[in-house]
Amino acid sequence: VFDVSKPWLNRVLERREKEYLTAVSEVSFDVAERSTYALVGESGSGKSTIGKMLVGLLSPSDGHVEIEGVDLANEPDAAKVDAVRADIQMIFQDPYASLNPRWRVKDIIVEPVASRGGKTEGMAEKLLEQVGLSVKDAGKFPHEFSGGQRQRICIARALASEPRLIVCDEPTSALDVSVQAQVLNLMSDLKENFGLTYVFISHDLTVVRHMADVIGVLYLGRLVEEAVPGRLFDDPKHPYTQMLLEAAPKMDAFGREIQPPEGEIPDPINPPPGCAFHPRCPLAQDICKRDRPRLRQIGGTRVACHFAE
Ligand code: SF4
Ligand code: MG
Repeated sequence: VFDVSKPWLNRVLERREKEYLTAVSEVSFDVAERSTYALVGESGSGKSTIGKMLVGLLSPSDGHVEIEGVDLANEPDAAKVDAVRADIQMIFQDPYASLNPRWRVKDIIVEPVASRGGKTEGMAEKLLEQVGLSVKDAGKFPHEFSGGQRQRICIARALASEPRLIVCDEPTSALDVSVQAQVLNLMSDLKENFGLTYVFISHDLTVVRHMADVIGVLYLGRLVEEAVPGRLFDDPKHPYTQMLLEAAPKMDAFGREIQPPEGEIPDPINPPPGCAFHPRCPLAQDICKRDRPRLRQIGGTRVACHFAE
């Protein structure tokens, strides 16, 4: 359709392609059933992009998104893709934006099931109780609830279709500090009671420390380190993880005052060559500017740094 002989258009297309290519690249991680995998990174790290790809809100411009062996972006059998998708739900950062203001709570909660033609009798009332709200709330509208209550409604909606995996994108960071812990506790309880699996996206290592079974640290669209929380906090192997942890004591309990590590995050459209972290890295050597470190296993940690030892 486009006349690609036009040089300016070529540049636009090139730039676009690169934009998508560098949003997230070569990110692969295993999430054990009934566990929580936390994806942590600063804004621009690609964590929300990954979350949206997992639930199908974004498609990769190139490459694939593979879950349980099904390539969601390229699988020709739509039924196979639907079967995987049906098991995945998402909770968003902003509970205000993700609830239709004109719908009653009971209709919002059952919508994922109703839209697939499922039975919803009594479902909303039961779920409201399970997320700590009242049966009487079923007939109300979203504006009648506080932020924390609205996030509970979002959680009830996510639970309605009995998903195996819930992708949580900063589910508490838009809430008052006083209610953040309540919502996190609820999510932990629900995980136990329903046998859920979470991919929990956050900018804040201190929030995920107690939630996560495994933490993956993202930098400019790539995983730079992955380990269980104890190992990651006690023995961080990547200089970026070390920087994030050094910044941590300056945060309040919920990371509201997070101090970004020294230096600017580079433009994701033009990431630095070699190790993308090298302009900010105190340990950078010449090789870091040339060769991109691969993710490799050292002890119980996966880490992408030439000098992780
Ligand atoms: Fe720093 Fe080099 Fe390791 Fe990158 S590869 S984190 S620049 S030491
Ligand atoms: Mg985000």
